[in-house]
Amino acid sequence: MKFCSHCGRPVTLTVPADDDRPRHVCPSCGTIHYQNPKLVVGCIPVWEGRILMCRRDIEPRRGYWTLPAGFLENGETAAAGARRETFEETGARVVQLTPYLMVDIIHIHQIYLMFRSRLLAPDFHPTRESSAVKLFEEVDIPWDDIAFKVIEKTLRFYLEDRISGRFAFRTDKIETRGSIGN
Ligand code: ZN
Repeated sequence: MKFCSHCGRPVTLTVPADDDRPRHVCPSCGTIHYQNPKLVVGCIPVWEGRILMCRRDIEPRRGYWTLPAGFLENGETAAAGARRETFEETGARVVQLTPYLMVDIIHIHQIYLMFRSRLLAPDFHPTRESSAVKLFEEVDIPWDDIAFKVIEKTLRFYLEDRISGRFAFRTDKIETRGSIGN
């Protein structure tokens, strides 16, 4: 952050009184701009054992495959956000959303919350954000072309748990940038 979103003057990075870490502080109007992690919500949409994935048509990682996920908006529940992102990226309606995996991604200040879900019907299509949308059998998942490490983790956990049919809520974290996007 370079300029104060309240008054437009340049901000400085400094530790405010009674705080323990640097913040962007506006010397002109005194506003302290706190920055905190963002929540990304998404789905593992399943239809008859196959998993719905989309090929990103936006940066970052354009051309790589992912599960539908995006930033939660103010005023919506996490599940509603996951359902909305799934529709925006795949054109598919999902039901029976169950929280499944939370991943802290420390270095990019994000927390992913992924839901298991079922497609209401096998209706989906490319969208403004996805150049292709497709149901994958496990053997066909494009592991070498997954957009983000958190999505690879989600798929591997899901496929592992599916063997036993027991899907306890999982947590994990990613602390460093890997060879693929976050
Ligand atoms: Zn200001």
